Amino acid sequence: MTSEAITNFKKGGPAFQAAPLDGDRHHHDPEFRFCPLCGGGLNLHDLKAGEPRRLVCDACGFVFFLDPKLVACAVVELEGRIVLLKRSIEPQKGKWVMPGGYVDRGETVIAAAERESLEECGLRVEIGDLVGVYSYPGRIAVVVVYRAEYKSGDLRPEDETLEAAWFSKDDIPWADLAFQSTSDALKDYFERKRNHADDT
Ligand SMILES: [Zn+2]
Repeated sequence: MTSEAITNFKKGGPAFQAAPLDGDRHHHDPEFRFCPLCGGGLNLHDLKAGEPRRLVCDACGFVFFLDPKLVACAVVELEGRIVLLKRSIEPQKGKWVMPGGYVDRGETVIAAAERESLEECGLRVEIGDLVGVYSYPGRIAVVVVYRAEYKSGDLRPEDETLEAAWFSKDDIPWADLAFQSTSDALKDYFERKRNHADDT
């Protein structure tokens, strides 16, 4: 891809052929047509019984595996509240989500969650326990969510963010959360906190 196409890819822009999915549209399903190695045409072939058909280059035989996209998120806590960010970009523009984003190739998932927290809302955090791993049939994203401890920085909206705010449990905008994974992870997070409180 060209650098512009890569930028568009990250934004979910024109390099993606948007599939008309309803609800949780974190990631569109792109329709790749050309081999990334030689530019030959890609066509779907049955390579192995029981597996999805794969895109294979007619010219050089390259098999283009369409892998999941890994996303790292952080539930950043401070004094009983957590951070949510209002998205400034599609999909789900105007909805709330925790800090997070794509894990870069070669980057650890934890480092990605820390980096995204800094990039999107200016907070330095220390990643703690795993809240959960969230994936859904037909969806491209696999979302890894960690609990994170606030370390430093002033909360402010930055990359891809319209607003950034601290929320107590009672103020979570459940009807305006961006994705199924956002809702599922926050339910798990608060459920665990409640169980922990019952134990102590
Ligand atoms: Zn090729």
